[in-house]
Amino acid sequence: MTSPLFYKKIFLLLTFIIGCNFFFSQKKFTIVLDAGHGGSDIGANRYYSDIGTVMEKNVTLGIVLKLGRMLEKNKDYKVIYTRKIDEYPSLTYRTDLANRSKADLFISVHVNSSPSKSATAQGTETFVQGPNQNKTNLDVAKAENDVIFLDEKDKENFASYNPSSPESLIALKIQQSKYLEASLIIGGLVEDNFVKKDKRLSRGVKQENLHVLRMNAMPSILIETGFVNNYDDAHYISTEEGQQAIAESIFNAIISYKKMVDRNVKEPEPEKPVEQPLKNDFRILLMSTPNKYNENDPALKGLKYILPIKENGAYKYYYGTTNYASVRDTNLKTAKDAGFRNAMAISFMPNQTLGVGYYTLEIYAGKDKLDSKSTVMKILPNMTRNKENGIFYYTSGQYRTLEDAIKAQKELENKGVTNAIIEKKLK
Ligand SMILES: [Zn+2]
Repeated sequence: MTSPLFYKKIFLLLTFIIGCNFFFSQKKFTIVLDAGHGGSDIGANRYYSDIGTVMEKNVTLGIVLKLGRMLEKNKDYKVIYTRKIDEYPSLTYRTDLANRSKADLFISVHVNSSPSKSATAQGTETFVQGPNQNKTNLDVAKAENDVIFLDEKDKENFASYNPSSPESLIALKIQQSKYLEASLIIGGLVEDNFVKKDKRLSRGVKQENLHVLRMNAMPSILIETGFVNNYDDAHYISTEEGQQAIAESIFNAIISYKKMVDRNVKEPEPEKPVEQPLKNDFRILLMSTPNKYNENDPALKGLKYILPIKENGAYKYYYGTTNYASVRDTNLKTAKDAGFRNAMAISFMPNQTLGVGYYTLEIYAGKDKLDSKSTVMKILPNMTRNKENGIFYYTSGQYRTLEDAIKAQKELENKGVTNAIIEKKLK
C-alpha cells in the first residue's frame, strides 16, 4: 500500500530538489557553456576556396564566447566555460564540471556534418537526452544528489533522505523526466529563435544518446548550429555576424527559459479573490418562542454566541453575527446541523436607529416582585416594572440601536447582572 505520506514525502523531496538552488543557497542561475571539440580535436571541417578551412572547434568557441559575454552582463547569471581557449577538455571533464558546479543548465555548441558528399543537408538541430538514457542519468543524479544533500545545511530539513529508499528513487526518476522536459523546452526555444529571428532552417529538437547529455544531472542541450559541408551554412557560421546571430538566439532562449523556471519555482499562489464584507450584518434566527431560555438551556442545543431579542412578547434567538457571506452560510449550516431545521439568516443594518420605539433590557421576569434588597435592585434601583398576565417584567434603559443595547447588556454582565435580554419596544 502506498500511503499519502509517501506521496507527501516525494512532493517535499521534489520541491526541495527543484527549489534548493533558489531558496536555500540563493545562488545565481548557473549555465555551463560548452564549446564542442578543441585543441587537437578540430571537429567537423571543410575547405572552401574562398574562406579556407571552416573548423568546428573555432566556430563553437566563437559562438560560446559571444554568448557568454552577453550572459555575464546580467548579474542573475553565472557562466562557467568548459573551455575559453583552443584546448581539448575530455567529455568526462565537461560533464564533471557541470555536475560539480550544480549548474542549472548545460549548453553544448557544435557544428554538424552530413555523411553524404552532396551536402544537401542544411540547418540547425538541437539534441536532448535520449529516450533510453534514463538509467544512466538516474545513476548520475543519485551520485550528485548525494553530494548536494550531504553538504548543504538542509540536511536537517531533509534528514531522512536516503538515495536508496524507494521514495527517494521515485523522486529522482521524476526529477529526471523533469530534466528531459526542461531540456525539450529550452531546445524548442533555441530552434524557434533560429527560425523566427535568423530565418534559418530548423531540423527540430531530437533525442540522442550523447555523452554530454547522458552524464549531466541538469537540463542539457547540444546545439548543432549548421552543416560545415553545406556552402551556405559554412559561410554563415564562420562569420562574426553569423556567430553573433546564433549566440543571440541562444541567449534569448535562455532568458525566456529562466523566466519560465522562475515562475515554476516561485509558484505564485493562485490569487484568491479577497472576500468583500457585506453592507449588513447577518444573524441566524434559530427560533421564535414565548419561552425564555438561559445560556446553557438544552433548548439551545449547545450553540454558543446566542443573542435573544424579545419582540411583541416572543423571544427570538439569534446565533452568530457576521458581515461575511461565507461565515453567514457556515453559521446557517451549523444551526441546521444542530437541529434548528427552520433556521434562517436575517439581515441587520448596522447601527440602525429604530423609526419607532427603542431597545431596552429585560432584567427579570417572574411571578414575584423583586426584593428591594436583592443584588439586582441594588445595582439597578430605577428599573421599570410592568405586569402582564400575572408576570412581573423589570426593564432598564432605552437604547437607540441594537449595538448600544448589546454594549449595555455586556456592561451589566460585568457588574454581575446576567441573563438580561434585549427587548425591542415598538410602543
Ligand atoms: Zn561536434
